[in-house]
Amino acid sequence: MTKLFGTNGIRGVVNDDMNTELALGIGTAWGTYLKKNIRRPKVAIGTDARLSNHMLKNAVTAGLLSTGCDVVDIGLVPTPTLQYTVKKKDFDSGVIITASHNPPQFNGIKGVANDGIEFSKEQEEAIEEIYFKKNYSLSNWENVGRFSTWNNAIDLYLKGILSNVDVDLIRKQKFHVVLDCGNGAGSLVTPTLLKKLGCRITSLYCEPDGRFPGRNSEPLPENLRDIMKTVVETNADLGAAQDGDADRAIFIDENGTYLYGDKTLSLVGKHITEEKKGGVTVTPVTTSSSFEEVVKENGGEVVYTQVGSPIVARVMIEKKAVFGGEENGGLIFPEMQYCRDSAMSIAKILEILAKEKTTLSQLIAEIPHYELHKTKISCPNNKKETAMKKLVEQVRDNKDITKIDKTDGVKLYLENGWVLMRPSGTEPIFRIYSESKDKKQAETLASTYKKIVEEIIQNLK
Ligand code: MG
Repeated sequence: MTKLFGTNGIRGVVNDDMNTELALGIGTAWGTYLKKNIRRPKVAIGTDARLSNHMLKNAVTAGLLSTGCDVVDIGLVPTPTLQYTVKKKDFDSGVIITASHNPPQFNGIKGVANDGIEFSKEQEEAIEEIYFKKNYSLSNWENVGRFSTWNNAIDLYLKGILSNVDVDLIRKQKFHVVLDCGNGAGSLVTPTLLKKLGCRITSLYCEPDGRFPGRNSEPLPENLRDIMKTVVETNADLGAAQDGDADRAIFIDENGTYLYGDKTLSLVGKHITEEKKGGVTVTPVTTSSSFEEVVKENGGEVVYTQVGSPIVARVMIEKKAVFGGEENGGLIFPEMQYCRDSAMSIAKILEILAKEKTTLSQLIAEIPHYELHKTKISCPNNKKETAMKKLVEQVRDNKDITKIDKTDGVKLYLENGWVLMRPSGTEPIFRIYSESKDKKQAETLASTYKKIVEEIIQNLK
């Protein structure tokens, strides 16, 4: 079966593979799926700032209504705001029209279950099956869904964040923050949040604009030069940049240095496990060992998962975790909600700074440093599984390997670091990640295992 849902919902180029016909079909399949277990499902729908937001939102809405689901439009909101609303207001499901950090010509549809977490793989497969078989159950004329709007989602969300941090403590510090919303959905929320936290704000690209005129929506170092420069020029305490749908945040220290997501994850993990005197934390196998090091120092534990924030979130619930997240700036705070939340991350970082009464660069300097190296190899999709099996067979007796972890791909732990070979879910490639305290060592690990996997793939032909 064709897979519509990728790791983060369905995405495509507008009016090409992401069109109203698909959106209508998905809305109808979604409604059919919900109606199987719920007599009168209530669904919240929202969008990011893209130009095609209304076009796709209305098509999905029409599909949902046709099956007898009631739809409440909560407007232009960050993805975590939609997720929080679904959880807090007892919706049966939620839909967000977003393509996250993708270029402006893209858009997408992402589904959320009644707990606010992205649909599981099983739920997505069930919806796909209905869609491809056109097994729709349409309601009769008098039972079609009702449509309404609700304008308080952002207020509700802001209140949630403010109730989960020490507002008075943060306000006393009068932080100066350079905020870069990248013209995304964060523009609707984050400036207000920072004002409520008593911050002085220097804004960059904090007007929602689906053309993304300010910068590329993905908060990579090369796209955040303006904020790095502005933090230094304005003598700010820090910078915070969000991606297009504001579930991820990247921070810039007071010297204008870009902080990779694993640093932030480790910093927050360190402080939360210190506060809670341990606890379980959850993160994918791709995360830096620095996270495990700081968590273990505080008597905490790390549970590793496959890549994908919904997977992390569901394991967090299962293990009653105190914190979790990904190394891409997606942090999950269970006291707020089980999904990546950039505005909550910003508030939390400010709280940590206020408590520690020192600079962000100083706090980051206390996090153990590891060098991460990434590369990739092409491999046809139908050969991925065999290639991984062969790799495990080949390295099994290697004395240098201390542990083999097959949570997602194959992760080999060695004396001086680890290397992970992971098949991409969407492209015919393997991603290779390696990490070591020493940069050269990380590169050597990656190139050594790249060669080994390349040879295995060649011999499969
Ligand atoms: Mg995103």
